[in-house]
Order: sequence, then structure tokens, then C-alpha cells
Amino acid sequence: MEFIPVIGLEVHAQLKTRTKIFCSCATAFGAPPNTHTCPVCLGMPGVLPVLNKKVVDYTIKMALATHCTVQAESRFARKNYFYPDLPKGYQISQYELPIATDGYLDIEIDGRVIRIGITRIHMEEDAGKLIHDPDRPISRVDLNRTGVPLMEIVSEPDIRSPEAAGEYLRQLRAILRYLNISDGNMEEGSFRCDANVSIMPEGSTVFGTRAEVKNLNSFKHVEKAIYYEMARQKEILLDGGQVDQETRLWQPDNGQTVSMRGKEDAHDYRYFPDPDLLPLVVDAGWIERMRAQMPELPAQRQARYMADYGLPSADARVLTGSRDLSDYFEACLTEFDQPKTLANWIMGDLLGLLKAKGLDIIDSPVSPKNLTGLLTLLDADVISGKIAKTVFEAMAETGQAAKTIVEEKGLVQVSDTSAIDPVVDAVIAGHPDEVQRYQGGQKKLMGFFVGQIMKATKGKANPKVVNEILKKKLG
Ligand code: ADP
Ligand code: MG
Ligand code: ZN
Repeated sequence: MEFIPVIGLEVHAQLKTRTKIFCSCATAFGAPPNTHTCPVCLGMPGVLPVLNKKVVDYTIKMALATHCTVQAESRFARKNYFYPDLPKGYQISQYELPIATDGYLDIEIDGRVIRIGITRIHMEEDAGKLIHDPDRPISRVDLNRTGVPLMEIVSEPDIRSPEAAGEYLRQLRAILRYLNISDGNMEEGSFRCDANVSIMPEGSTVFGTRAEVKNLNSFKHVEKAIYYEMARQKEILLDGGQVDQETRLWQPDNGQTVSMRGKEDAHDYRYFPDPDLLPLVVDAGWIERMRAQMPELPAQRQARYMADYGLPSADARVLTGSRDLSDYFEACLTEFDQPKTLANWIMGDLLGLLKAKGLDIIDSPVSPKNLTGLLTLLDADVISGKIAKTVFEAMAETGQAAKTIVEEKGLVQVSDTSAIDPVVDAVIAGHPDEVQRYQGGQKKLMGFFVGQIMKATKGKANPKVVNEILKKKLG
């Protein structure tokens, strides 16, 4: 029997505010332990939380970007549990009345658009951090992170493959970064994901029992963990067993999930409205102010690249994949008005270079100005395509402008027949056998002659001119 997976994702994104969600402590990362704390985030008795308006601003933007309904009134609730990283004994979150509901995100898998429902988006505070001593049976508590704002985005169980889960996450992260409301960095924990995975027989519409997998700290691990769960659950079902509803921990070291605990139910948390915080009222004016500040989002940019620049959808998708890459492309376009040529160079040579060097586009050693400078020389036939690749590499090494490199190294393309003629003559004279074979019908040898001439001119001869002269001379 074949099974298909049913996947729902819960994503926690850390919001890029300067201060915490309910106090004015800094959110900055990397400070000495417990220096960014105050009576509010330490959970002292008698203090009152005050909501950071920026957190609401950011969440409204995310809600609009994912087609959610922003609720006119929402509430904060206390989620009660005991753990040493939670000084108050409860986390302030939203429960029955989240700020945003009923949205969606369209993703593309193998050329097909799939709509993933978004159940809800809500705001909550982060907990502190436990630092376990490797040598002694003690743990230390750092509360700098306590009260850092998080946004939780819960998807419907609409995802049907590990790859779709990965793509959904990449799209969400791209939106967060376009909106500039979260770093979206999985490895650093500013973008965390729990995956709910169940399987059902192909053709069925009845969902199976799910396991919730935690500790997924890279896109690759999300996909691997889902594959692992699919196989694990399939084996249980084929053996006639039942999948337990539980929380499982992904172990990156051995590529397996292990049971962490039985799934807690909502009632275990004794949720109730936080009496210290008023209901949050968001009026139409607030929503419109946020809408007016929205930048162009990846999906809109993609559509514009296809409509205005005639780019294929695959190119448009790659180029808008991150805001930085897309901004790079647009910066180039202002200097060099050939979108497809630009797209090819950026997606091929430039991304290849960045990957090899392990760099982000923002740190590209080839600036938009230098790339377009190169393409302008190429377009004007000042240099050949082959030389352009060499100049590109030199730009990557030195950060110099293409024009400077071409001038200093004397790489200007030679199109002047009087300069190429003697080289062609010399090559013909030097290869009598090949000439004979060519004239005997082996026309493929043309490539050989062109190659010899390019070599002799160090790639500087204009290949078009070389071809013409050769044809004339070889007959
Ligand atoms: P909680 O984690 O608090 O129990 P929910 O019950 O609302 O919250 O579900 C959390 C996530 O689990 C959602 O993303 C939802 O899409 C997903 N989900 C619900 N049922 C299933 C299922 N049978 N298989 C896979 N995912 C599921
Ligand atoms: Mg959950
Ligand atoms: Zn504080």
C-alpha cells in the first residue's frame, strides 16, 4: 500500500524590534547573560507588561502579506507551564483570539501552484535560554531572551511532500525578509519550525495520527525529518500498529526522531486571558497605515519580472528568491537594459561564484556597477565572450572595474582583419594535414582552426571575424 504524508507547520519567527515585547529591555543578541533584563521580563511580582506597538505593526504586515484577516479585537492569554527558563511560570501568548486568521501562501512545486492555508498568526514572548554544563550536573539560566517578541505562523495540514514543506518555509522566510521584520535565520534560531507529520493511504481523505517533530534547525533537516517520519509511520501501520500522537525530537547526528513526550493537550496549559493586558484593538486606520508601508513582495516582483522584462518564470523565481538578490538585479538593470542577459549572468556566473566562496549576495565581490560595466563592454563587442569570463573572474578577485582590467591586461577584442589575417595565415601554414582533411570534406575541423587562432591571440580575436577569414582562405 502506498501512503502520502499530511504536513502542517508551526513557524516561530523572532521579530526584529529594538526592545522586547512587554518591557523596554534590548533584544540585542550576544550580551553577557542576564544583562538585558528588568523586573517585567524577570517576572517579579507586582509589575505590569506594556505591549510594544512595533510587534503589532510587524504582525499586521505579515498578516497582510499572507492574505489573513486582521482581527479587530484579539487577546493575550497565559500559557501555564513550569520550566526553569520561564520565570513567570507562564508564557504570554495568544490563544482563542489571535490577531490574524485564515490566510494562505501560494507555492510552486514542479511548475504547479499549490495553495497552503494559514490557520492563524499570533504574537507571543520567547522564553530564556538554559546553558547545560558539560562537566557538572548543573544548568545555568540566561534570561536575556525572555520576552523577545515572536510571531507564530500556523499552517493548515495542506502540505503533501517534504519538498513542499521546504518550499513553503523558503517563501515564508523570503516574505519576512522583504518585510524586514525578521532575520529569518534558521541556524541562529530566529526562524524555528515544528513539523506535524502524519500519513494516510493514497486516495484516502481521512488524516492519520500525527507526530510533532521539534528541533529542526535547517531547511535540509526539515525535509529529512519528514522523510524519516513518513518511513517510520509507514512501518508501524504496515505492521498493524498505531501511530502515537506525540512530540518527537529530531536528532541531526543520526538522522532519526525519538519520542520526547506524549502530546500535551491545550487544556494541560490552563490557558486563560491575561488579566494584565487589555484586549488588543486594531482599527481599519492602523491596518491601512501598515498596508501603505508594505514593500513589493516576492510574488508581485516575480509577476512583474515576467510581464515587464519577459523573463521566464524560473528566472523570475530565482531572482526574487531573496530581496537582496532581487535588489542586486534591479540595481544592474538601471545600468544595463537587457534583463535576460543580466539574469543569465547573475544566475550562472555570479551565483556560482558566491556559492563557491560561501558568500551572500550582499557581500558580492562583484558589484552591480562592475557587472554591468563588463556586460556593456561585451555588448559593444569591445571584448569577446571568452574574455568576458576571464574579466569576470579578475573582477571577483580584485574588485576592479571591467574597463580597468581590460585596459591593464590589454584584453580588447581584435576585430581588425589586418591584425587577424597574418595569424590565420600562420595557423594554416602550420597545419597542412588538417587543411587537406578540411578541404577533403571534414568541415568539423573549422572548430580546430578557430581554436588555434584564439589560442594564438590569447582569446582576443573576434571569433566572428576569425570565422569569416578562415572560410574565405580555406575555401
Ligand atoms: P497544537 O500543536 O497546539 O496541537 P493544532 O492542533 O492546531 O495545534 O495543530 C498544529 C499543527 O498541526 C497545524 O499546523 C496543523 O496543520 C497540523 N495538523 C493538524 N492535524 C494534522 C494531521 N492529522 N497531520 C499532520 N498535521 C496536522
Ligand atoms: Mg503545536
Ligand atoms: Zn525587561
